[in-house]
Amino acid sequence: MTKVPELFGSLVFDESTMRELLPKDAYRALKAAIAQSKPLTPDVANVVAAAMKSWALEKGATHFTHWFQPMTGITAEKHDSFISPTGDGRVIMEFSGKELIKGEPDASSFPSGGLRATFEARGYTAWDPSSFAFIKDNTLCIPTAFCSYSGEALDKKTPLLRSMEAVSRQAVRVLHLLGKTQVKNVKSTVGAEQEYFLIDKEVYLKRKDLIYTGRTLFGAEPPKGQQLEDHYFGAIKPRVAAFMQELDEELWKLGVPSKTRHNEVAPAQHEMAPVFNTTNVATDQNQLAMELMKKVAARHGMVCLLHEKPFAGVNGSGKHNNWSLSTDSGENLLDPGSTPYENAQFLLFLAAVIKAVDDHQDLLRVSVASAGNDHRLGANEAPPAIVSMFLGDELTGILEAIEQGSGYNSKASSEIAIGADVLPTFPRDNTDRNRTSPFAFTGNKFEFRMLGSSFSVADSNTVLNTIVAEALSLFAADLEKASDINAAIADIVARTMKEHKRIIFNGNNYAAEWVVEAEKRGLLNLRSTPEALKRFATEQNAKLFEKHGVLSRTELHSRQEIFFEGYSKIIAIEASCLVSITRKRLLPAVLEYSKELAATALAKKQLSQAIDTGVEERQVTKLSALATKLDEKLNQLITAIADSEKLSDGAELADFSHDKVFASMEALRIVIDEVELIVAKKYWPVPTYGDLLFSVQ
Ligand code: ADP
Ligand code: MG
Repeated sequence: MTKVPELFGSLVFDESTMRELLPKDAYRALKAAIAQSKPLTPDVANVVAAAMKSWALEKGATHFTHWFQPMTGITAEKHDSFISPTGDGRVIMEFSGKELIKGEPDASSFPSGGLRATFEARGYTAWDPSSFAFIKDNTLCIPTAFCSYSGEALDKKTPLLRSMEAVSRQAVRVLHLLGKTQVKNVKSTVGAEQEYFLIDKEVYLKRKDLIYTGRTLFGAEPPKGQQLEDHYFGAIKPRVAAFMQELDEELWKLGVPSKTRHNEVAPAQHEMAPVFNTTNVATDQNQLAMELMKKVAARHGMVCLLHEKPFAGVNGSGKHNNWSLSTDSGENLLDPGSTPYENAQFLLFLAAVIKAVDDHQDLLRVSVASAGNDHRLGANEAPPAIVSMFLGDELTGILEAIEQGSGYNSKASSEIAIGADVLPTFPRDNTDRNRTSPFAFTGNKFEFRMLGSSFSVADSNTVLNTIVAEALSLFAADLEKASDINAAIADIVARTMKEHKRIIFNGNNYAAEWVVEAEKRGLLNLRSTPEALKRFATEQNAKLFEKHGVLSRTELHSRQEIFFEGYSKIIAIEASCLVSITRKRLLPAVLEYSKELAATALAKKQLSQAIDTGVEERQVTKLSALATKLDEKLNQLITAIADSEKLSDGAELADFSHDKVFASMEALRIVIDEVELIVAKKYWPVPTYGDLLFSVQ
């Protein structure tokens, strides 16, 4: 194997490649364009494109594509080859600056939430030079933003980039007020820990529900699940280890700094975490990681499941979004530092996050809402649907002391006086861990743990950046008026605590008492996706996104429409899949097994009336009753589906899909799982949970 440092980034047209291959002026112009988020001039673009082309051809690329992130949540690419016929039966390989900078894919088949009706079908993609081009499948991939011709964002990346600018603007404004006038920009950073399941391909192919919906729609609990807690951090099986090794190598080639790998809590569940990066790059890299997990698994005869809840009864999969803010000189603004001055700055940014999370619980909740994630959030699993923050006792204690203007007695028992203009020094990294919190401070960053495993991290970070930008802008306005900056900071921190401390909860977020307590505190508890989505395009949120230039009203409304629609479609697919499997496979299996039992009983009786056929009779009786119930629940589901098809309003349909269609699926599932436990293995037509969860040995 090539040495890792040589392998790393070998398929990326990155900083060092650019420096090596571009003429000095072009390199400088490109760097300046990236730093200022400005477009390239046609001349520079041509030079960059030419260098990129020769580099890509040398690496075996035959095609190029604008790689973008439509509202489907996954990535899209349409390959064009470099060939250009010369007229004499030959071709040359061409790639122009124009082709690098802008593409014009047909936008009409991507979700647009109504934008398509009012605007041209054509969309265009524009290079995001802050994310490097790379080679995948012999194709030069150019990371791009995707917009309609009139400039509306049709993707997840455009608002993310806008939100990064918004938070940078406000953070720089605050830092300048604190005297750090040398800071030119601030970047939000993200490290996305990715959970996934691996199962054997042969077994997978026998579960149509997994194939069509990514999750099992039924399945009785296996005798062994995660009770023994023997999988978490356990020794990695050779087949999985081989997968992980190849995955890391593939990721490294693409410059994704995959760092950690381990077994997770549920059987067959694992995790990968990279070293963090700027938010837009981390988003691209997480998309690549998810794509590669699927590809590499296939090479090892396995399937990688990224669904939030592939199996009921064992843990689902999430994505931990580690987030922070960092200046252009690399200073982490959520690092407490070790001097009172650094602390003042830290406490101010910390206060901004506290205010942001409390004021905009709704948006954070919306950003993690999906049919898949509904199985995790608030469903007796980590984390709950209620947004709250964990700060740890030490930090909470300090903030409370500032709020009360009193001294704080730190755990290290060094008395710290807090006056109006003196902020405390306190021990770093004294945060204990609370694994149950949806939004936890972990030493020098926040870990937002509510994201689902299949999510693009773009939406949550767009929200995080925007809401923190808003809090910072309000603080900046106060600081601009202040005569004594330290007193003003202390005042802001104290006021933030007074107004927003309800959002801080250091206890067990899974406990039933928390739900009651959270309600008393007036925190939102949006239990399902439809409930959450209704909170998205409110007037308050429209103003917020508009103020920071992240989403226009039209974009916001279209996104809400897309999310409603997406949710209802997923439920509809799951429902029709369950109907079909129940009808075509499960019900027939029950009837067949009953027939076999009845035939056995009859045969025995024919042989001799004295033979006991009690077992067969009791089983047939039980099965017949269950078959009736199965049929009844199946018909209720069919009716619910038919009724849902009469609805056209997005919100109404989503509500109905949740309250009626999904509920009917759950009711049917209960009967199926009961039946599965009785029907003989040889008659049960699909692999069981045991077969699936322990398929990779
Ligand atoms: P933990 O013990 O909380 O899992 P790690 O140090 O392993 O902490 O980090 C988890 C993730 O957080 C990694 O992806 C890491 O790169 C990321 N991370 C660390 N520092 C930052 C930061 N300043 N901004 C964003 N992500 C970060
Ligand atoms: Mg973590």
